[in-house]
Amino acid sequence: MTDTIRFERHRQLSQLHNPMMGGQLDTQQIELRRDPLTGRPSAFNPRLQDKVAMFHGASDEALIERLAEAGRERCFLCEDRWMRMTPTYPDVVIPSGRVQVGSCVLFPNLFPVAQVHAVVRVGDAHHLRLDAFDPSLLHDAFSAALQFVRALARAEPSARHLTLSANYLHPAGASIAHPHFQVVGGDLPLGTVAEMAAACRQHRDAHGSDFWPDLVDAEREAAERVIDDVGPVTWIAAFSPRGANEVLGVLPARRHLLQLDDTDVTALCKGVSCVLKGYRAMGVSTFNFTLFSGPMGAGDDPMRCVMRIISRQNVYENYRTDDYFLQKQLGTELILTPPEQLAAMLRRSFE
Ligand SMILES: [Zn+2]
Repeated sequence: MTDTIRFERHRQLSQLHNPMMGGQLDTQQIELRRDPLTGRPSAFNPRLQDKVAMFHGASDEALIERLAEAGRERCFLCEDRWMRMTPTYPDVVIPSGRVQVGSCVLFPNLFPVAQVHAVVRVGDAHHLRLDAFDPSLLHDAFSAALQFVRALARAEPSARHLTLSANYLHPAGASIAHPHFQVVGGDLPLGTVAEMAAACRQHRDAHGSDFWPDLVDAEREAAERVIDDVGPVTWIAAFSPRGANEVLGVLPARRHLLQLDDTDVTALCKGVSCVLKGYRAMGVSTFNFTLFSGPMGAGDDPMRCVMRIISRQNVYENYRTDDYFLQKQLGTELILTPPEQLAAMLRRSFE
């Protein structure tokens, strides 16, 4: 049902005497958008579009290499060091202590921030460029995470609210360069998971249909933000993003992680790989992603499995954070690349 989704835009005018225009009165137009699910706003001033470099400086590739090299010697994920230096799960959860799929290995975080907090080593390479995250490597990492989720469903069924996330490089929150993902969750949904669950519930109560399948239909009808369909996953540039260059991968037929089969995982990994390639082509060097899910085992939950990928500040010396008071205190993202343009750019990396 496409009439249940509202792509809300609100226009504001802001006036100033502009010294760059000889002191003339300058009227600038700002567009506030609202996320059709949560109502979260984002702000766009078209005049900032050619000033993206003011906010995101160019990635310093030499610095990225230098920092990665500096951490290589003491990296606990490199070579076979993970075998000695990473913790293991009790036998009752994972009989061999860790989950290994190819070169990817899942083990517990030494200092968990939640009931469930696992780390996935993503491959042997200490440093990968964004265009080097091959679908097959991602498939091994995602498969390790999902094997763990299935093991938890048996050993620790109270941990129903699980997510798979990633920080990549230090501006995105990563403490080491070596690619790694994290499974986080427990018996209570964390902030965004709870916010999305409540909004999905409200949508069903109001319309008798579920938000995510409705969104996919509405975005298909609008056409301008759909990037591609890869098997069961529809990739969309988010209408009102909560991070820079936000891309959503929606699986309208999957309510939680236990429902994902190999076709789903293959499609997800291909899409993630294409988005990261596209980011690289745009000059981006960092990212966060989260694969959201409804509660494990829920038969008729209104949530769906949704991958959200955002880019973060680029790596360069003395970079300034991309998350300032606007995002952190006012819960509003600044749009620099309009989602409709982002979709057009990323379509090329999906070809
Ligand atoms: Zn390493």
